[in-house]
Amino acid sequence: MALNLQHNSAPAAVEDRRAILDNPGFGRFFTDHMVKVDWTVADGWADGAVIPYGPLSLDPATMALHYGQLIFEGLKAYHQPDGSIATFRPEANAQRFQRSARRLAMPELPVETFVDSLQALVDIDRSWVPSGADTSLYLRPFMISTEVGLGVRPADSYSYLLIGSPAGAYFPRGVQPVNVWLSTEYTRAAPGGTGEAKCAGNYAASLVAQAQAAAEGCDQVVWLDAVEHRLVEEMGGMNLYFVYGSGPNARIVTPKLSGTLLPGITRDSLLTLANDLGYVSAEAEISTEDWRLGNESGELTEVFACGTAAVITPVGEVKSAAHSWTVGDGKPGPITMQLRQALLDVQTGEAPDKHGWMHTLVAAE
Ligand SMILES: *Cc1c(COP(=O)(O)O)cnc(C)c1O
Repeated sequence: MALNLQHNSAPAAVEDRRAILDNPGFGRFFTDHMVKVDWTVADGWADGAVIPYGPLSLDPATMALHYGQLIFEGLKAYHQPDGSIATFRPEANAQRFQRSARRLAMPELPVETFVDSLQALVDIDRSWVPSGADTSLYLRPFMISTEVGLGVRPADSYSYLLIGSPAGAYFPRGVQPVNVWLSTEYTRAAPGGTGEAKCAGNYAASLVAQAQAAAEGCDQVVWLDAVEHRLVEEMGGMNLYFVYGSGPNARIVTPKLSGTLLPGITRDSLLTLANDLGYVSAEAEISTEDWRLGNESGELTEVFACGTAAVITPVGEVKSAAHSWTVGDGKPGPITMQLRQALLDVQTGEAPDKHGWMHTLVAAE
C-alpha cells in the first residue's frame, strides 16, 4: 500500500508544540498530519495519502451525517527505552476494525493498510509523541461513508482517516477509584445489535445514561444486559474485571463476551497477563447480585475497569436504584494496581514483551 506524502507547510511552531506536550490532556490537540484513504465500489481502496491535518469538506447530504455509518478505533504509541516508538497489538485493532466494518455494511480495510497508516503518521509526526511518565500519542483511526444522498442503504464510497493526539497521564494526581451507577433504565447494546462493533452510534446512545449517572453523583455508568438488567456487561467505554480472594490465590474474572460486549484488547491482554503473574483468570457471567453479595461477604475483593485510554481504573463505590455499597475498602486494590503497572511496563518497554504484543512504528535513530 503506497501512501503519498504531502508535508504540512505550516506545522505548529516548536514552542507551541512543546507547550502542548507539557500538558496535553486528552483529545484536545492534534498533530500536524493525518492519513486519508478512500474507497469506492468501482475501484476498492485507492492509494492513501499522508496530508496536512485539517477540516474535511463534506456535502451536507453526506450519508455518514444522516445514517451514522461511522466506526473507529483507539490505540496508543509510546516511546521505548531504546529510542524507538512502538504501539500495542495494532493487528488486533485492525481486525476489530474489520469486524466493525462488516457489522455496519462498510468495506474492510486491509490489516496491512491499517498498520501502515499508523507507521506513516507516527513517522512524520514523531515529535508529537510525549515522553513523560504515563503519556502517549493517542491514535484514532476511523471510517465514514462519503456518498451524497438521503436514500437509506450502504453507501458506495467511504473514507478511512487516521488522526493523532498527544495524551497526558490519565491520573496525573495518582490513581483514583471511580463511583459507578448501575443503569436499569438504559441499555448500551441488545442481542443482535451493534454492541460488539466500535461504532459512533453506541456512544451517542450512551450519553444520556452517563448524564443520569452524573445526576446520581457517580462518575461512570455500568451497563447491564438488555433483557433482564441482571448481568454486568461494561462500564462506560471500558470492560470490567472482578477480583476474588487475595494474594497468590486470587482469581480474576471478566464478563464473558455475549455478543453485546465490546471485545476490548486490554480485556483480552489482561486474561493472559494475569496468568503470567500467577493468578487464575476466567470469563464468566456476573450478575449485580453476585457483585453486591460478593462485596458483602468479602469474597469479591476488588473491581476495576480497563481500556486503552485509562489502562486500568479501580471501582470504589457502586450505586443502583435499590442499593449502594463499597468495593473492598473503596481504595485501589493491590491486584488492580499490580496488573496496571504490569501492563504499562510492557507498553512502555520496561518489561519483556513475552507475547509479541509490541509493534515498532519508528526505529531508534
Ligand atoms: C473501545 C472500547 C472498550 C475498550 O477496548 P480496548 O481495546 O481495550 O481499548 C471497551 N468498551 C467499549 C464500549 C469500547 O468502545
